[in-house]
Amino acid sequence: MSFSFSLNAKDGAARTGVISTPRGEIRTPAFMPVGTAATVKAMMPESVRQTGADILLGNTYHLMLRPTAERIDRLGGLHRFMNWERPILTDSGGFQVMSLASLRKLTEKGVTFKSHIDGSKHEITPERSMEIQKLLGSDIVMAFDECPALPADRERIAESMRLSMRWAQRSRDAFGDRPGHALFGIQQGGLERDLRKESAEKLREIGFEGYAVGGLAVGEGQEAMFGCLDYAPAQLPEDKPRYLMGVGKPDDIVGAVKRGIDMMDCVLPSRSGRTGQAWTRRGQVNLRNARHADDPRPLDEACSCPACANYSRAYLHHVVRSQEMIAGMLLTWHNLHYYQELMGEMRAAIADQDFAGFEARFHAARAEGDIERL
Ligand SMILES: [Zn+2]
Repeated sequence: MSFSFSLNAKDGAARTGVISTPRGEIRTPAFMPVGTAATVKAMMPESVRQTGADILLGNTYHLMLRPTAERIDRLGGLHRFMNWERPILTDSGGFQVMSLASLRKLTEKGVTFKSHIDGSKHEITPERSMEIQKLLGSDIVMAFDECPALPADRERIAESMRLSMRWAQRSRDAFGDRPGHALFGIQQGGLERDLRKESAEKLREIGFEGYAVGGLAVGEGQEAMFGCLDYAPAQLPEDKPRYLMGVGKPDDIVGAVKRGIDMMDCVLPSRSGRTGQAWTRRGQVNLRNARHADDPRPLDEACSCPACANYSRAYLHHVVRSQEMIAGMLLTWHNLHYYQELMGEMRAAIADQDFAGFEARFHAARAEGDIERL
């Protein structure tokens, strides 16, 4: 079976469809929980699946350093290693080399750097990134690229984008013929419309199974990001999945789907779950707050996740304050459940041609804010 994408419905620029892979279907728009080091922190893989996730993201940079791609390959690949048999997308390692590693040296060939764990020296090139992602057994492989932090001047953005396009070609060449697996190209160009267009044209010329809008969610702010998403997705092929990397908060996700994005990933729901923060239909709730100490009500009475079905706000407050492990487990579960419900509601709204109605309800519930304190 091969990798394919079919669009089922469109409402304005928003789309819903299905990505088919030999490891299962991915309903779009899709949210991918982040399994950085071969685990979605605080969650069993079967629980991640129960929240409604069709696909996970793994981080090449972390896995190549520890336990190494070669070891994972010897142990049967990432799916078996982490007990997640459904699709996995891996990033190229480029972004985290830039954000985590020290003593980076960037050349035409690739990047050399020192590990943030033990200071050991490593190199990632487009060819090595393809090799690592193949060893991991990733279903969706990302091209190796460079992403400059914003703001950056136009000259720097143009230079970086053209380097990334040469690396995209090298990634395509090194990926080889792998039926059932996909390689996604990554559009760069910062907030410059013409550079985004140049990048998109180059990627189309090379040809990929999917396309990412890269270089956003790096500190430019929501307004600037939406401004770019007003044109960037439409520069990419209509009949291939479009992936916005590293996004985001619930309202970022709704705005991105509205503008034609099909896939997203973010550490936010799992990371906030470990710091006592919950995301609900009515916005963000800080369970550390003393107002919850005597509150017998659930976090969200309409939510069917275990945290909401079986526990009170008072209990969640207590375990967050006591730094009990179950706090991170329950709140991560709730947050991932909420994110997946949000995606499901958007898929249904697009299929019903009611995205505007969905968006109005989404913003109205958030405007109400959290339930009144007791
Ligand atoms: Zn819940």
